[in-house]
Amino acid sequence: MRRNIVAGNWKMNNDLPQTEALLQDLKKHVVPDNVSVMVAPTFVNLYHAFESVREYSVEVIAQDMHQAKSGAFTGEVSAAMLKSVGVKTTIIGHSERRAMFWETNEILALKVNAALENDMTSVFCFGEELEDRKSGNHFNIVKEQLEEGLFHVKNDDFKNIILAYEPVWAIGTGETASPEQAQEMHKYVRGLVTDAYTNEIAENVSILYGGSVKPANAKEIFANPDVDGGLIGGAALKAEDFMAIVNSF
Ligand code: PEP
Repeated sequence: MRRNIVAGNWKMNNDLPQTEALLQDLKKHVVPDNVSVMVAPTFVNLYHAFESVREYSVEVIAQDMHQAKSGAFTGEVSAAMLKSVGVKTTIIGHSERRAMFWETNEILALKVNAALENDMTSVFCFGEELEDRKSGNHFNIVKEQLEEGLFHVKNDDFKNIILAYEPVWAIGTGETASPEQAQEMHKYVRGLVTDAYTNEIAENVSILYGGSVKPANAKEIFANPDVDGGLIGGAALKAEDFMAIVNSF
């Protein structure tokens, strides 16, 4: 049975005191049993966050990682390093990584492999740009991103994959895909997983929606049968808003 998941991507926000303050605010809330909750602080605060939420039912995850095991990659962080501070899950292929750090589907495929080799779970992000949506090319783009970046993963390893559909035009813009647009794409993606793998694998993979999710729209987005939660940016930076989203199933 697939899990409901709400993951907060803090991006390049929150220094150490702010990280601790937000975690303290989150800890005032009870996490409901029907949702797995994740937060992704910046690399430098992962260890602190991991220690801070030890007794609380929130998983600390990374925003990215490098595909190589180790070596001369100045500024980068490996899967083994993440694991050594308690991190078991990482976001891979966020649209900001794709657009601003030139991460191609091929690079993302290597990152997924590196995560799997280290028994880590990937929250694999994909989604079309506004021009793709306007020209009706959104399904093709999403299919290409999944086929080139993810669908080489073996059947047995797919349990370590969480999918996150994030239409780029809806990220940080205040513009949300309508519940119908989200459901349409999520259903399509689940169909792609069925075709590439099995119906059982497709039924068990969680597909999150990301793009300007907030307390006011989370309920109607999460109510769709193929939407299993959200990847949250801006609204993850306020504990009250984030926990209202967590409580929207
Ligand atoms: C994101 O960056 O993954 C995201 C969904 O951001 P926002 O919620 O701010 O649109």
